[in-house]
Amino acid sequence: MSPSALPAARDRLRVAIQKSGRLSEPARALLASCGLSWRESRDRLFCYGESLPVDLLLVRDDDIPGLIADGVCDLGIVGRNVLAEHLLQRSNGGADKYREWRALGFGGCRLDIAVPDGWQWDGPAQLRDKRIATSYPALLGAWLREQGIAAEVVALSGSVEIAPRLGQADAICDLVSSGVTLAANQLKPVLTLLQSEAVLAGPATPFVDAREELAALLLRRLDGVLRLKDSKLLLFQAQRQTVPALLKLLPDAEPPTMLQVDGGDTLALQALCHGAMTWQRLEDLKHAGARGLMVLPVERMLA
Ligand code: ATP
Ligand code: ZN
Repeated sequence: MSPSALPAARDRLRVAIQKSGRLSEPARALLASCGLSWRESRDRLFCYGESLPVDLLLVRDDDIPGLIADGVCDLGIVGRNVLAEHLLQRSNGGADKYREWRALGFGGCRLDIAVPDGWQWDGPAQLRDKRIATSYPALLGAWLREQGIAAEVVALSGSVEIAPRLGQADAICDLVSSGVTLAANQLKPVLTLLQSEAVLAGPATPFVDAREELAALLLRRLDGVLRLKDSKLLLFQAQRQTVPALLKLLPDAEPPTMLQVDGGDTLALQALCHGAMTWQRLEDLKHAGARGLMVLPVERMLA
């Protein structure tokens, strides 16, 4: 390769996110909570990073894996479902160039097989010789092969859930979150092929220029934000002898800070808890001797 054919070293990171759709707002909010800000362009396709050299490219979610594979973008926020489908489709066309870096905790859904309400479901073998409509032909095809089921995959780009009513298919394989859309189309979910959520996707091999350090910085901040997602600071007072029982109720807490109050047996405790702090948990703690319980939000943390 001549020197001019070598890819130019890049010192800005380009992150692809969905332009408009279910993942666009949460993806932006997550990146903003990592301290990123952008100058909006008029066409809103490219946003120039201001606080850090991290730019955004706003695209259709289906294009994100390909943009990363082709090196047009460095990272992307996309549903695991889209990434997995794309990986399977490309697997005969070249090496896997990207992978899931982090699960991001939003955009949760399942890729389910759903059948008409009237079917008496007695297992996957029932799908033999049936037509199954889906926008995920590679994932469905791989699953059918794995199960040894010969069925016809009907690839559709949208409106999969009405295919059985239109006589295009007998069953479907589609994304489900609440199940309301399935129910409205007289379908019921019977099997889950994939549990999905939004993920950060990135290249399978490290960057060889300044982007490596930028990506590491972004990941550190992202991990800090994700770790604190459900985290709360818990403050309370308790008698010294009740503390061991109270700590048993806080398995998700970091070792607490304890201060003696009034030189007596009363302690003031402060603990960072990583699980959800529900009313039920607070009542259990009160029952075990905690007093003056207070739950405070945690905005940022740097270990
Ligand atoms: P685009 O115009 O970018 O192609 P789209 O219509 O393909 O948009 P959306 O419907 O916004 O995409 O869904 C984006 C992602 O949201 C899905 O790939 C999936 O990961 C996630 N998602 C979460 N819940 C659902 C759901 N109930 N139905 C569809 N997708 C869901
Ligand atoms: Zn899409």
